[in-house]
Formats: sequence, C-alpha cells, structure tokens
Amino acid sequence: MRLSTITNWAYGATVALTLASGTVMLLASGAEEGERAAVEQRANFDQLTATLEEDVYRQTEQARAYAITRDPSHVIAYRREKAALGSVEQRMAHLRDAGAKDSELAALRQGLHWADALTEAQETAIKAAGTNDGETARRILFGDEYGRELDRIAAQVGKFQYMLDQRTENAVEKATEAARQWRFMSEIMLGATALLFLCVLYFILKQRILRPVVRLSDVVTRLAAQDFAAVPPELPQVDEIGDMAQAVRIFRENGLERQRLEQERDADRVTRDQLSRMTQRLQGCDSISDLVEVVRRFAPEIAPGFAGRLYIQDARRNAMRQACDWLSPQGSREEFAPSACWALRRGQTHKPTGDLIDIPCEHLGERSGLSTICIPLTAQGESIGLLYFEQPEGMAAEQINRTEKYLEMLAENISLALANLRLRDVLRQMAMADPLTGLANRRRFDTVFKEQIAFAESTMEPLACLMVDIDHFKRFNDTHGHDAGDTVLRAVGSVLNEALRETDCAFRLGGEEFVLLMPGFPLEQAIERARQVQQKIQELRVEHRGEELGPITASFGLSAYPDHGRPEKLVLTADAALLRAKAQGRNQIVIATIRDAASHVA
Ligand code: GH3
Ligand code: MG
Ligand code: MG
Repeated sequence: MRLSTITNWAYGATVALTLASGTVMLLASGAEEGERAAVEQRANFDQLTATLEEDVYRQTEQARAYAITRDPSHVIAYRREKAALGSVEQRMAHLRDAGAKDSELAALRQGLHWADALTEAQETAIKAAGTNDGETARRILFGDEYGRELDRIAAQVGKFQYMLDQRTENAVEKATEAARQWRFMSEIMLGATALLFLCVLYFILKQRILRPVVRLSDVVTRLAAQDFAAVPPELPQVDEIGDMAQAVRIFRENGLERQRLEQERDADRVTRDQLSRMTQRLQGCDSISDLVEVVRRFAPEIAPGFAGRLYIQDARRNAMRQACDWLSPQGSREEFAPSACWALRRGQTHKPTGDLIDIPCEHLGERSGLSTICIPLTAQGESIGLLYFEQPEGMAAEQINRTEKYLEMLAENISLALANLRLRDVLRQMAMADPLTGLANRRRFDTVFKEQIAFAESTMEPLACLMVDIDHFKRFNDTHGHDAGDTVLRAVGSVLNEALRETDCAFRLGGEEFVLLMPGFPLEQAIERARQVQQKIQELRVEHRGEELGPITASFGLSAYPDHGRPEKLVLTADAALLRAKAQGRNQIVIATIRDAASHVA
C-alpha cells in the first residue's frame, strides 16, 4: 500500500475517533445532566413531603394550644394554616407535577385523607374549647386515638417518602452509573484518539521525515565523496523533503555530467598525447617501413577497438597496397586499384554506414555488415595512401563518435609524414641521378660501386666495369651548340640504359664519360656486351633542330674481376684501358691488361 494511502487512512481514523470521542463526551455530559436532575428531583420530593408532615403537625399544635390556653390567636392561626393547605388533590398535584407516580401518590392520598379526618376532630375540639369545655377538647386532641391517627398519618407520609426515596435513589444511582460509564468511555476514546494521533505523528515523522532525511543524508555524504553510484531516493512528495530530494538528484546529475566531461577530457588528453607522440615518432622516420611500424603500433592506441589497414600507393602498379594492419580487420583486399575506393575517388572520408544511405567501396570484398571508414592520405591534392578502419561492434555510439574525431587527425599526420618521406626519396633520387640522361650520377656510382665490390669479394662472383667516353664530343658542342651536345649525351645515355640487365647499373660520371657495372658477368660476356653497346652507339642517328649531327662513336675501356686484380681497382684499370683506346685511335674497345692494373698500383 502506498505511503500516502496509509497516511490518509490514519488521518481519517484520527478524525473519526476524534468525532466519536467528542460524541461520547457529549453523551457523558448528558448523563451527568440526568444525574443532576435525579438528585434535584429527590431533594424536591424531600422538601414537599416534609412540608406535608409539618402542615399536619402545625394544625394540631395550633388546635392543642387553643384547647390549653383558649387564646383566639391560635384559632386564627389554625384557620390560616387550614385555608393555606387546600384540598388533598391540590396538594398532591404539586407532587405529581414534581414527578411522583400514581402508585406512590395513592399511599400519600390515604395519609392526607386521614389528615383531613383529623381536621374534623380538631374542629370539634376547638368548638368544645370555645364553649369552655376544655376537658373535651383536651381529651380529643391529646387522646390516644388522636395520637394514633397522627402516627398513622406520619407513617403513611413516611411510607410515601420511602417509596419516593427508593425510586429517586435508583434513578440517581442509574444516572450516576450511566454518567460514570460515559465518562469512562469518553476517557478511553480520548486516550485512543491521542494514541492514534501519536502513532500517526510517529509514522509520519519516521516514514515521511526521519527515514527520507536519513537516506538523503547518506546519499549526500556519498555524493560529497564523489561516489556517484549513490542514487537519491524517489520522493515525489510536495514538501521540503521532496524539494531536498529533487535538489540532491540535480546535484548528482550535475556531478555525473561533470565526471563524464572530466573522463572525456582525460580520454581526449590521453588520445592527443598519443597523437603527439606518434607525430614525433613519424618525424623521426627515415623510411616508409619505419613509418609503417609507427602506424601499426600507434593506430590501435589512438582508435581503441578500431581494426584497420594502412595502404600506400604503389605508383608503378597504380594500386593501393597494404603496408600493415592491426586488430585483425575482417574486410578490404590487400591490394586494389584506387578507383575501387570511394574515398580515393572523391578525395574525402567515406563512411558508407551511417544515418544517410551510401555506397560501400568495392575493395571491401564479400564481407557485408561491416561499418567501415576510409580516409584518403593526400599530399598536394594527390592520394598517396589510405587509412581503412572497421567500427568495433558493441561499442557505445558516444565512444565511437569520440574516437572518430581523431581518425582524420591521425590520417593528416600520417599523410604529412608519408609525403615527407616520399619527398625525401624523390630528393635523394634526384641527388643520385643525372638530370640530363636520367642515369645515376657519380655520387650514386660511389655508393653502388662500394656495394658491388663488397658483394663480389664476399661471393667471389665476377664483376665487369666498362668505361665509355664519347669521341670528339667537344666538336658537337663547338659545331652545333651546347644543346646539340646535350642531345648526343641523352642519346648515348639511353643506349646504355637499354643495354642494362636487372642487376646492371649505368652511370654518367661527368661530361661525356659513362660507366657500366655488370655484376656476375665474366670478361667474355662483358666484351660481348661492350661490343653491343659500341654498335648501338655507332648506329645512333641524332637530329638536332632538324639537322643530323653526324656519326657518334665512343671509346671503351673494359676491366673485370677477378681477371684484372682487386675489385676496387676496376675503375682505374678500365680508365687506363680507355686511355689506351683513345690513344690507339678511338672508336674501339680496349680490354685492360695486368699492366693497366699494375700501372695504378704504382
Ligand atoms: P676525346 O675524343 O679525346 O674524348 O675528345 P673530347 O672532345 O670528347 O674530349 P674533351 O675532354 O676535350 O671535351 C669534353 C667536352 O665536353 C668539353 C665540355 O665542354 C663538354 N661537356 C662537358 N659536359 C657537358 C655537358 O653536360 N653538355 C655539353 N653539351 N657539353 C659538355
Ligand atoms: Mg672525356
Ligand atoms: Mg671524349
């Protein structure tokens, strides 16, 4: 049963009991009134009956006094008393009016008739006394007969009085008893009302004030200690305690909101710290593989629960190739054409699952039902990679939204680092390449040559070195201009480039000098390759501004390891052979000799 119902019932019972006890008090007061009336009636009867008896005796005394003294004043007094008495019925009428009953009055009537009979004897005696017959008068009035009559009357009046007394005594007793009972009843009712009132008061105090206040106080104490698991009780009552409960509820809600914001802020700070640490690491990356490792480690920290893949553009294959993944993503192929991704097509984040209908990317494959996010990695408007994420299942939407905020920042940082690395690669390549012919330059040659020497020495594999110098190149410049010379250089460069196997390397060492390194080629094969190159150069027909530049020839110096000694001397030995080729008339291949090698040792 609801508390308010109990309270209302208790209020109702208290009011009913109060009304009942009021009624009982009225009844008790009525009973006391009855008791007082009964007592009054008895006193009234006592007085009336006493007067009756006195009247009889007063008449007798006046008559006797006259019989003795013959004083006429006694006769006058006697007559006055007699006249005042009235008839028997008149006298009884008073008593009837006062409440005497007929049975009681019958006894009195008998007595009064006897008193009237005495009056006749008194009259006879007075008359006798008036005729000086005092003796007769005294005999009548003091005789035994008269005395007996008087006693009989007194006895009759006494009987009447006794009957009245009996009755009124009973009435008084009854009224007293009734009054006592009603008083008792009213006291009990009053006591019960007071008790119920106290119970209601206690109940209200305990249930509606004490208990809620204790519970509220407990909740407030816990809330003050930042324990927001404490739930304030539901107190819908419209009073100060209800207001207090409402205030505590609002306080708790504010606290919870503040705690949520603090947690969010802390989580944001942690994520930003991670992002900043990742950015620092990315800045320190020397290669794409370093960058991939940093992303693989940091991405699951910055976007917890989001499985994903990092794709990097492979320009040669015009494809996006997976560089790494984390948290075992379910969808997306390891390699795909950029056109298979809507994010790459549009250059914007693509999130096909959401409130708005959208189209899933083709590279997701057969897996359906995944909530995916593709973020392009761009540099100067060009897509250089892709970050692919899968939203975790069962994670709160709020948490997902919070994390998604950071995905684009993550992508931006990776884009920047990737673009930097690519730029660095381009610059490095540029620094290592000859811009005119596209061949590697001397700086690159120094590095590659050292590597080739080390490899050849460790594996004892052969290594051939072909030095190439265009014959009378200066003439092209002098005759046709510097640009024509450049055209010749480009043409010879492309011949060398085309002559390369996968393991070979061609370099422009400077001016019109080139070198071809052929690892794994024994001398015979190298001579064969040198002849091919010589022939291709001889066959070159180069035009500049519509003018044919004439035949192009070159001189060649060829050395080989292990044929001509230590590998690090190969270039110098080949150079010596080349000098000899020039000296012997140009447009020829001179194979180094031991002397060529020894000449440099010296
Ligand atoms: P030889 O047959 O003895 O090798 O004679 P050569 O004329 O080829 O050799 P030389 O060393 O006398 O001349 C080289 C010339 O190449 C001198 C220089 O002006 C020219 N040269 C060097 N670098 C370039 C370049 O990048 N472009 C052009 N057009 N000419 C260059
Ligand atoms: Mg030269
Ligand atoms: Mg030359």
